[in-house]
Amino acid sequence: MAEDLDELYQQVILDHCKTPRNFRALPGASRRGEGYNPLCGDNYTVFVAMDGDRVREATFQGSGCCISKASASLLTDAVKGRTKEEVKALFGQVHDIITTGRVTGDGLGKLAVFAGVHKFPARVKCAILAWHALVAAVDGAETPVTTE
Ligand code: ZN
Repeated sequence: MAEDLDELYQQVILDHCKTPRNFRALPGASRRGEGYNPLCGDNYTVFVAMDGDRVREATFQGSGCCISKASASLLTDAVKGRTKEEVKALFGQVHDIITTGRVTGDGLGKLAVFAGVHKFPARVKCAILAWHALVAAVDGAETPVTTE
């Protein structure tokens, strides 16, 4: 990967880490998912409000490292308006990006910034954590999930 691309990716992650989007509780959320990464101490709750089968709004709260927070921030932006099935398909694509660096399919937008994470195996769990919480929320699971 070109160095300037790495730099651009880092800027997006830093921006979302310092100024996370949708970083609040969601009154009226119909679902929530918990994510805890004991290796790093990342701990988040993702709130989801559904309109039938579609995500109307997603927010998150919690604390953790820059990668995990940026991931949760970008995720809550990315899933708005998507159906449950679309969210799961997106999770599959993001999982590929984070674990292999391969960007497959269109419409991933800024989520491609996590393509560099697979080079740092300790960070993979940080980047994927909020996604596990999100899928748990969309599926309506009430129990905490971890990355283990
Ligand atoms: Zn972390």
